[in-house]
Amino acid sequence: MATILVVEDESAILELLTINLKHAGHNVLPARDAESAIATINNVIPDLVLLDWMLPGRSGIALAKQLRENKRTRPLPIIFLTARSEEHDKVAALETGVDDYVTKPFSPRELAARIKAVLRRRAPHVTDDAVLIGDLRLDPATHRVTGKGQLLELGPVEFRLLHYLMTHPERVHSRKQLLDEVWGDHVFVEERTVDVHIRRLRMALSPSGSEHLIETVRGSGYRLSQMS
Ligand code: CA
Repeated sequence: MATILVVEDESAILELLTINLKHAGHNVLPARDAESAIATINNVIPDLVLLDWMLPGRSGIALAKQLRENKRTRPLPIIFLTARSEEHDKVAALETGVDDYVTKPFSPRELAARIKAVLRRRAPHVTDDAVLIGDLRLDPATHRVTGKGQLLELGPVEFRLLHYLMTHPERVHSRKQLLDEVWGDHVFVEERTVDVHIRRLRMALSPSGSEHLIETVRGSGYRLSQMS
């Protein structure tokens, strides 16, 4: 469900992580050092980074700092992986703004739970949790949307768009933000495309009378709101 960049120089651990994450349904992008991690990120922004502390060349902490300084990568959820357990390391890691910290050796189950918790908090639209707003319910696991109990027919883009809006309600999203979050960044689509899919989304929601939840905010973008 999520695309996870794993930065780890030890082959055995990288392999173990890859197997576990794939088993949990995630897509894994492996990197063995900070340079190849950056090269990967320049191509595709992952949903989360699992970052080893001790890497050859630039350290994990230096990479985390760099990611936090760049506007494009600043919101990236990061979980630190490290063999160190000393308190001052944890403080240093948390000061760079990482989201969580897992000490090796870790159980795959614990790691999966930490990843899920961070994604829930930081990127709820990539989890499989069902979302309920008003009479509208979206279930990513079954790919179903219902409004007042009635099954609604949505295309794949409209489904992702609604999932994103429902997991980030009451906020105004610009067309550019929606393109980045729903279509994926580095995808060159005209901003007008968003309007087309919003129109289709409203049409798909109309049998249940939920289309009014999707508001146009003049000059800014779109918002899913229950307020009006
Ligand atoms: Ca290492």
